[in-house]
Amino acid sequence: MSDLQSLTSSITAVTSPFRSYLTDLHTQYQANNDGAVADYIPELALAKPEWFGICVVTEAGQVFEIGDCDQVFTIQSISKAFVYGLALEDHGREYVNSRVSVEPSGEAFNAIVLDETTNRPYNPMVNAGAIATSDLIKGANGTERLKRLLAMFQRYTGRELDINVPVFLSEKATGFRNRAMAYLMLNFGMVSDRIDETLDLYFQQCSVMVTAKDLAMLSATLANGGVNPVTQERALDERYVQDVISVMLTCGMYDGSGEWAYRVGMPAKSGVGGGITAVVPGKLGVGTFSPLLDAKGNSVRGIKVCEDLSQDFGLHLFNVAKPKLDLADCLTGNDVDNW
Ligand code: GLN
Repeated sequence: MSDLQSLTSSITAVTSPFRSYLTDLHTQYQANNDGAVADYIPELALAKPEWFGICVVTEAGQVFEIGDCDQVFTIQSISKAFVYGLALEDHGREYVNSRVSVEPSGEAFNAIVLDETTNRPYNPMVNAGAIATSDLIKGANGTERLKRLLAMFQRYTGRELDINVPVFLSEKATGFRNRAMAYLMLNFGMVSDRIDETLDLYFQQCSVMVTAKDLAMLSATLANGGVNPVTQERALDERYVQDVISVMLTCGMYDGSGEWAYRVGMPAKSGVGGGITAVVPGKLGVGTFSPLLDAKGNSVRGIKVCEDLSQDFGLHLFNVAKPKLDLADCLTGNDVDNW
């Protein structure tokens, strides 16, 4: 690169309106220390309250990263949306629907509750439904199923991912509620009897280590019809993208999903590791990371960031008003961070 070229690109990077906007959001909400770090297992309690990253990936493959976007943390419940997609690919919509419903439960994510008439778990985004979904992942044994699951995540993120083993072992050692749900579902024939293998898979999927950038790639891939906008690799069969996004909208933020849909209107999924991944179909994916959680288990700073993005750029799914800021205008600036 010539001196002139590098000078021009650094000027563009500094002056890109969208980058400046995100930097301002980051500065503003870094000061918000509401919420608490999850501490149901010791490994999660080690998260630093100040960690805060915002990443946006557009469907054209532009990547904007602000703050702690390389810090790894465990994906936790965010995995549920993507494992649901794999289950749909493995079995098709009708069969998956016979095992897991798509109704918001209105209950906490770890509630031990099934639909009284059908005995199905309410949806794939709460623990019971997620365990039933993990049960559907095909493979001859636990190792093969985990391999398929990791390969699926890697198609979305475009990079190799691993499990945090101490988190997995802690989840496994203390996950009695999840075990109880699995047995309740076995009682009703909603899961197969390879319970220990499936619970291991569920605890492993929760322990996949990701960054805010990975989360933005996950949602940007959904936003882009199932194809990673940077690597151009297909991560999810086009037929199921809409299904995954729909349950994210209605159930992705646990018992905060109704308010989220009302205020933010971006299909999203949160995890107790502090991540949120949010989809703006046809436009972009947002990934945020901040481990301070509200009472429902959703990242406080992450919610604020998504609320602002939604309001300022008119990104609510049902927005019909002229937005305060024009996304296309703000994005021009060639501010592409190399992936
Ligand atoms: N591993 C956690 C559990 O199963 C995941 C919870 C979450 O992110 N909400 O309880």
